[in-house]
Amino acid sequence: MLQIKNLHASVEDKEILKGINLEVKAGEVHAIMGPNGAGKSTLSSVITGNEAFEVTEGEIILEGEELNELGPEERAHKGVFLSFQYPVEIPGVSVTNFMKTAINESRKAQGLEEMPANEMLKKIKEKAELLEIDRKFLSRSLNEGFSGGEKKRNEIFQMAMLEPKLAILDETDSGLDIDALRIVANGVNKLKSKDNAVVLITHYQRLLDYIVPDYVHVLYDGKIVMTGGKELALELEEKGYDWIKASLEK
Ligand code: ADP
Ligand code: MG
Ligand code: MG
Repeated sequence: MLQIKNLHASVEDKEILKGINLEVKAGEVHAIMGPNGAGKSTLSSVITGNEAFEVTEGEIILEGEELNELGPEERAHKGVFLSFQYPVEIPGVSVTNFMKTAINESRKAQGLEEMPANEMLKKIKEKAELLEIDRKFLSRSLNEGFSGGEKKRNEIFQMAMLEPKLAILDETDSGLDIDALRIVANGVNKLKSKDNAVVLITHYQRLLDYIVPDYVHVLYDGKIVMTGGKELALELEEKGYDWIKASLEK
């Protein structure tokens, strides 16, 4: 699904990612953990094509196709999803209407016809039921007065509707409360399948009590310095990140 080879990336001439190698197969959930400032959010931004970062070396490959030269929209249309953080409130535009527009714009960019209204409604109903989202929520204005949990619910609903091949969820700085944590975890657990993959970026081990990853990677100073199974997350919880630094200096 995703191959990252010797990825180096900079912002304002400062190298942040210093040679990342990562392979994610369909059906897998990978967690990327690491201390603040390690480059986790940079990695998610670079995979999704955020133009604030410059890739200076290496490749990002999705299903055999190199993405390096593609913009964020094109990558999204190829099935890469980064939990949209639309902090903007859009009064008068409901969660549902925003989603309808997003779906149809994505289809248009792929040369497809608009989704017929009845099919769209059916899909919205089906995904809302799966995620236990009530009708009232769907008719609310986008982000207007949303709590942290409601913002997460909206993101997970977008993910469910867009059915990405590769979902990247960066939960590092969002200050998830327990409610929001469960929403994300339930959503991911319900939406993961043998045909898609999830990269979950998180500073906290807590989220991994609810989503069991196949692999845990530790990102430290722009490099993946350790890879393990779910037990690695527990070890990090117990020991923090300092022992990694110590073991690297040996
Ligand atoms: P993490 O998500 O692991 O906490 P980030 O990827 O956000 O780490 O940041 C990694 C490093 O890159 C930090 O030193 C941060 O200050 C720097 N950085 C990130 N984005 C920018 C930017 N837009 N401009 C300048 N420096 C940045
Ligand atoms: Mg940070
Ligand atoms: Mg971050």
